[in-house]
Amino acid sequence: MEQIQMVDLKSQYYKIKDEINTAINSVIESNQFIKGPIVKEFEKNLAKYLNIKHVVSCGNGTDALQIAMMALGLKPGDEVITADFTFIATVEVIALLGLTPVLVDVERDTFNMNIEALRKAITPKTKAIVPVHLFGQCTNMEEILEIAKANDLYVIEDTAQAIGADYTFKNGISKKAGTMGTIGCTSFFPSKNLGAYGDGGALFTKDDEIAEKLRSIVNHGMKVRYYHDYIGVNSRLDSIQAAILNVKLKYLDQYKANRQAAAKYYNDSFSKLNNIEIPVVSSFTNHVFHQYTLKLKDINREKIQDYLKRKGIPSMVYYPVPLHKQKAFHNYSFKDDNYPVTNELSDIVLSLPIHTEMSEEQLEYIVKCVKEFIS
Ligand SMILES: *Cc1c(COP(=O)(O)O)cnc(C)c1O
Repeated sequence: MEQIQMVDLKSQYYKIKDEINTAINSVIESNQFIKGPIVKEFEKNLAKYLNIKHVVSCGNGTDALQIAMMALGLKPGDEVITADFTFIATVEVIALLGLTPVLVDVERDTFNMNIEALRKAITPKTKAIVPVHLFGQCTNMEEILEIAKANDLYVIEDTAQAIGADYTFKNGISKKAGTMGTIGCTSFFPSKNLGAYGDGGALFTKDDEIAEKLRSIVNHGMKVRYYHDYIGVNSRLDSIQAAILNVKLKYLDQYKANRQAAAKYYNDSFSKLNNIEIPVVSSFTNHVFHQYTLKLKDINREKIQDYLKRKGIPSMVYYPVPLHKQKAFHNYSFKDDNYPVTNELSDIVLSLPIHTEMSEEQLEYIVKCVKEFIS
């Protein structure tokens, strides 16, 4: 049996090695390392996959979020609402731009933004909502879009963990994660569901004007070289990463299916256990299982992690400290009482290995070891 890893990028690479190597070599031969034609081609192919008019690539997912907020003209004092239970990047960029981060609690079932908490958090200063499609399933976008419309707010989707996930509206229309709000942001960090071999990110929008602004901001705020219309940044997807992603995009649906099959195996194996709660998937979305995250009941998390580790099985806690408690944000004086669910989740979540290359043998072994520990 292959050594078990949280994510196995090496085995994945070996299956498409020739294609990847050819793609990388062609960029090197072309010598167009920045803004080469492959970047445009990848953007076009991703736009087609997502069924969205514009894809603008950039340097990483954190930059994507920052650039989205810059393009929408958010200014110091503006409040931006997001979830307390997410990766720090989402909140970091809000703070970095001098905007005011407003954190709301999440739902215990889905780990995603609690809609009632969102409603309560809106003030006259609120300018944008940043729903995070955590672990691979979509937040309740129908409600969020309604709230945004009623209050004239932008919606910036953080779909770094959910690229390829589908959302179905009540009228039956289905859309891809990241294509429902004003702007969608994603990351191509190597371990993400569509991962590069380095850093990368992208923004999605259906709005021509916003797209043009995004395209300009990622490249020093210029459209015509050395004429700068906006204060921008230097955040580009380099051609080698675009070439790799362009190959991997073809396999994204297969990768999604592999992750879903692994999750199903886990679900079937754990669903009857009293002290483990399996992931709950909302009816309006599918789940692309960027993470497979359990909730533990009366199980000592450190001890089970330790036990699994001794059996050669890695596991991770995403995330051990809610953002409202992070030292970096101490001067925002978030009130701990507002986040009972995030506080609970950060104590009881445990993510097991899930990736595109998991074998039945590995899954069987992991399940056996988990069951051994809790019995
Ligand atoms: C990974 C991630 C990001 C940041 O992406 P980078 O490419 O690492 O900058 C942002 N938000 C969420 C939810 C993420 O998981």
